[in-house]
Amino acid sequence: MSVASYAAPAPTNIWTPHEVRIVRFDDDTNDTRTYELEFVDKRLQAAYSFQPGQFNMLYLPGAGEAAISISSRAAAGAPLLHTVRAVGNVTNALAWLRPGDTFGLRGPFGSAWPIAQMKGCDILFVTGGIGLAPLRPAIYHVLDHRADYGDVTLLYGARTPDGCLYPSEYADWRAAGIDVQRTVDRAAPGWDGYVGVVTLLLDRLPIRRPAKTQVFCCGPEVMMSRTAVSAVQRQIPESNVWISMERNMNCAIGLCGHCQFGPAFLCKDGPVLPYAKVASFLAVKGL
Ligand SMILES: Cc1cc2nc3c(=O)[nH]c(=O)nc-3n(C[C@H](O)[C@H](O)[C@H](O)COP(=O)(O)OP(=O)(O)OC[C@H]3O[C@@H](n4cnc5c(N)ncnc54)[C@H](O)[C@@H]3O)c2cc1C
Repeated sequence: MSVASYAAPAPTNIWTPHEVRIVRFDDDTNDTRTYELEFVDKRLQAAYSFQPGQFNMLYLPGAGEAAISISSRAAAGAPLLHTVRAVGNVTNALAWLRPGDTFGLRGPFGSAWPIAQMKGCDILFVTGGIGLAPLRPAIYHVLDHRADYGDVTLLYGARTPDGCLYPSEYADWRAAGIDVQRTVDRAAPGWDGYVGVVTLLLDRLPIRRPAKTQVFCCGPEVMMSRTAVSAVQRQIPESNVWISMERNMNCAIGLCGHCQFGPAFLCKDGPVLPYAKVASFLAVKGL
């Protein structure tokens, strides 16, 4: 390449939030909302891309910054979606905003579900509650490349039927050949799924090719640990289990140390990790 033809990449400051506008939102549950966002700067909108499992830092001036997974399709031109549960400073401040309002976003950050590398495998998604949000881009990847995968199953647990995210999409997922099984802690009239913890679904799931089954799991840590144990009991190698970890994140680039978990900085080594890498640390209470 000649010097004359070399265009230096535009300098980007990883610390600078970019202004995004709320295009619309949908209420998923009584405390969880999915926001469609667009960059105010159209060049950023066109250039933005991410991998399934990555997250952005959402910045609400006066409230702070929070790590939030991207819950949309990781395809060029697809709307950028975040599914957010209002629990604290940033997420409650976000819940006050309306379409047309703007705030700051920097990202994407972190590791991705290695879904594209798992061609030819059977895929088992195991998740609970809002854990479906970080997995949805990987589910969309499977839907968009369905022929690349064998059996695909989603085991999804929630406290109650109305706590399930994205219910309007399950029919499409099933039609595309994903076995969607749901369970709740407390059923309600009209519920046609299971009752009990999500790992019970795994315990009774037929697994045709354990060595070729990859497990992608996101939810409370105790649920992810139990899923890994159940998977291994079903002859799925521990190295085939992938989890997504959450800790309080501040810088998102491995400098501040807030999210250190054993040897890993979850913001840059994670949030998606091989279960085997952190299994021993998950067993340590309060780490
Ligand atoms: C990689 C990653 C991805 C994530 N993806 C998502 C996602 O897709 N969607 C989502 O909703 N969340 C997601 N989270 C979680 C989210 O980042 C946290 O919930 C974050 O803390 C929210 O920020 P906040 O300022 O609203 O809450 P904070 O103010 O930080 O509060 C967080 C929690 O602490 C409690 N708390 C706050 N203040 C106090 C206090 N004074 N005393 C006692 N308890 C208190 C709150 O009740 C709440 O439970 C993700 C986290 C990570 C690390």
